[in-house]
Amino acid sequence: MFENLSDRLERSFKILKGEGKITEINVAETLKDVRRALLDADVNYKTAKEFTESVRQKALGQDVLTAVKPHQLMVKIVHDELALLMGETAIDINIKGSPAIILMSGLQGSGKTTFSGKLASLLKSKRGKNPLLVAGDVYRPAAIQQLKILGEQIGVPVYSEEENKNPVKIAQNAVQYAKQHGKDLVIIDTAGRLAIDEAMMTEITAIKNAVNPQEILFVVDAMTGQDAVNTAKEFNDRLDFNGVVLTKLDGDTRGGAALSIRSVVNKPIKFVGTGEKLDAIDVFHPERMADRILGMGDIVSLVEKAQEQYDEEEARRLQKKIAKNQFDFNDFIAQIQQIKKMGNLKDLASMIPGVGKQIKDLDIDDDAFKNIEAIIRSMTPQERTNPEILNGSRRARIAKGSGTNVQEVNNLIKQFDQTRKMMRAMTSGGGKAMMRNMRR
Ligand code: GDP
Repeated sequence: MFENLSDRLERSFKILKGEGKITEINVAETLKDVRRALLDADVNYKTAKEFTESVRQKALGQDVLTAVKPHQLMVKIVHDELALLMGETAIDINIKGSPAIILMSGLQGSGKTTFSGKLASLLKSKRGKNPLLVAGDVYRPAAIQQLKILGEQIGVPVYSEEENKNPVKIAQNAVQYAKQHGKDLVIIDTAGRLAIDEAMMTEITAIKNAVNPQEILFVVDAMTGQDAVNTAKEFNDRLDFNGVVLTKLDGDTRGGAALSIRSVVNKPIKFVGTGEKLDAIDVFHPERMADRILGMGDIVSLVEKAQEQYDEEEARRLQKKIAKNQFDFNDFIAQIQQIKKMGNLKDLASMIPGVGKQIKDLDIDDDAFKNIEAIIRSMTPQERTNPEILNGSRRARIAKGSGTNVQEVNNLIKQFDQTRKMMRAMTSGGGKAMMRNMRR
């Protein structure tokens, strides 16, 4: 599903790999690629433009998270924005009422009849409903037959009137029949045409007005991309439907319909069809769909974890200290605490794509910091803030106090010095720009 789009998005994030921070330039470059990927997936032009603009603003407005790299942050922002584009949360179908009435609409061949069967079966088995299917396509005898066969397969009765050519009457009669026979759910399949046509619209509007359905679903073939979005718009203008059903997502669809419909029509996608079989139906979850499109759930949860633990004030304070070359052992230990708060080290590292497999057999224990912490805690407050005073006798005392040896103490101090030098190099010159970035 959406393989090409997934590949293209993944490739666009590569631009940010190796970049130290998010800048207007590298974001613009990345988003140029993202936008092209969306357009090639047949996403509506305006939708793609608004999407990238929104991502741009969010990316540039983010505080710099020390634990997160620019490309990881971008993956997360794009992921959230994709979910938002598709509606953010799943919207349930309204099946209250006795009986609840669901009216199906859509073009011929969209998968309306198949979906009616799938939905009846799903609501029967999962929601304990007692459904009645209604054959409202009076023009094609084969359509009535098709629904009857489906009904038989799932054990749901099908209401039809072969001699009656008035679908409005049939729908009304079917609702009466349902009431008399203890059916609490009526699913009305209607006639489609190959293209939008006035007679079809008038007819389905008349059915709507006659039976007053709780839920009108618009069924559309996802393979038709932009056409799907245009058709949805026309049906919605006339019917004001409640939700969209995207069928044939199992095929080679590019994703355009799934990504554009919500923003163009402002109605949620409620279900997807993923095959010809009657159990090939899924409730639509925007968030999960975004996961699938990006295929980078691991990075997304990594960034989420970091964001949860991120203390903005602390980061600002630290940044200032680094810039002034005042980063000391107190800060060092605070950083270790921060990393530890993020959870099990191995879990954390294995969330980074590509790392997972490599460290599987490696023994990273969560006590990796134990000695480091012990050494720092054995320092006096003065030593922690002024590491320069750590001479030989002080080092020997610290080694003894922390239950380590002088070699380990020396190593830590050396590491600390290197870290400090590196931090200074990173901020010198760029210090001001970095601070500016952080305040945005
Ligand atoms: P209708 O004219 O809108 O009632 O469409 P049908 O229900 O008759 O479906 C048209 C064709 O699409 C049939 O061959 C179905 O088997 C097929 N179809 C429907 N839904 C799906 C789906 O989710 N995936 C695939 N691959 N085929 C589907």
